[in-house]
Amino acid sequence: MKKILSLCIIACMIINLQAQNFEDYFINRTLRLDYLHIGKNDAETFEMKKISAGGTWSGTRNFLIDPHRYGDVLFQVYDSTSNQMIFTRSYSCLFNEYRSTERAKTETGSFEECIMMPFPKKTVKYTFTSYDRQKVGTLKYVGYYNPQSTNTQSFTKEYKTINLHIGGAPDTCIDILFVPDGYAKKDKKEMISDMKRFCSYITECSPYKENLQHINIRGIKGFSQESGITDPNQGFYTQTLLNSRYNVIDVDRYLMCLNVWKLNEVADDAPYDVLIIVANSEKYGGGGIYNFYATVNNEGMYSDYVIVHEMGHLIGGLGDEYFTSEVSVMDYYPTNIEPIEPNLTTLVDFDSKWKPMMETSTPIPTPATKKYKDTLGAYEGGGYVAKGVYRPWQNCTMKESIYNNYCPVCTQIILQAIDYFSK
Ligand SMILES: [Zn+2]
Repeated sequence: MKKILSLCIIACMIINLQAQNFEDYFINRTLRLDYLHIGKNDAETFEMKKISAGGTWSGTRNFLIDPHRYGDVLFQVYDSTSNQMIFTRSYSCLFNEYRSTERAKTETGSFEECIMMPFPKKTVKYTFTSYDRQKVGTLKYVGYYNPQSTNTQSFTKEYKTINLHIGGAPDTCIDILFVPDGYAKKDKKEMISDMKRFCSYITECSPYKENLQHINIRGIKGFSQESGITDPNQGFYTQTLLNSRYNVIDVDRYLMCLNVWKLNEVADDAPYDVLIIVANSEKYGGGGIYNFYATVNNEGMYSDYVIVHEMGHLIGGLGDEYFTSEVSVMDYYPTNIEPIEPNLTTLVDFDSKWKPMMETSTPIPTPATKKYKDTLGAYEGGGYVAKGVYRPWQNCTMKESIYNNYCPVCTQIILQAIDYFSK
């Protein structure tokens, strides 16, 4: 009885937190914190650098307490008088990938990060808690923001935005924003046609195409000094708007942007929930980090697949279901712990994942044979390792270069993310 009662109390608390009124604590404006995430494999710190505000708030108003905690970092905001938690957001970051590399055992890395929240009416306390692979959280930073007295810059608004697909008002849609990199003024035509093409890859893929009324896609018109994307392994260096580059954390095809503050600043003009960099480069590459940003290269036969694969990481916190590719992270998923990614399992707590969605007649583990093709199962191999980590489908878009082929688990998570951003 006691247990039932406490469960009821917890349920009421969750409902209360989700039902709290946006207007009680916030105004329709966005506050952005720019900071550094610094450290190595056994140490990390956050250093606040700049706070800015502007625009409107395009994010969720009904899920101010993030119901999905798939990220490595949890940002929490409290009303400083009552100490009530009024906003949270979970995200992952490049720093956490870096800290799992061999290099991070000796070298300190410093990575730019940003977080956005609705603009508070009164002084708030905010915290950053970092979670390790064992899912143990450590409080890393505490700060205060006073809307009357904290030094706050205004959003810059230097760049024009173009509408590519508009499903509805920003607060009723997930707002996806493309930011181009490596396009000089002479590449203007190509830049616009690339963004239109990537927009159609999203809008023609399930489950996005069935939910177009909850999706907005826009693009920034932003030019670089030079064409192309820096590729250190080829000795090719260019001056670009966002300074995106290949070979980030020593993986050749890992194309990411280290100037995250600039990326968010360029995006200031448009309402956005998530950012995707469209990089002007023939070389296959990309990356996507949960609630952080994603990157795609603009050419190649797999561009349609790459963008929806990276969207899976970006909005769903989905893990890679492949296990045969070059990665530099070591033992990313300890096999004695259930991974945080919703589409991977070590079978340690499979009930918390997609086991309830499976037919009871399907064996666990499930053999990757013809008999179980297009069957929800637990197939060994995923999360960069062949043994001990299991995936839900034989050949989902999160595993293989196949467009429009999210498995039922990934589909459900993407739908959940669209719902989160559009309510
Ligand atoms: Zn999947």
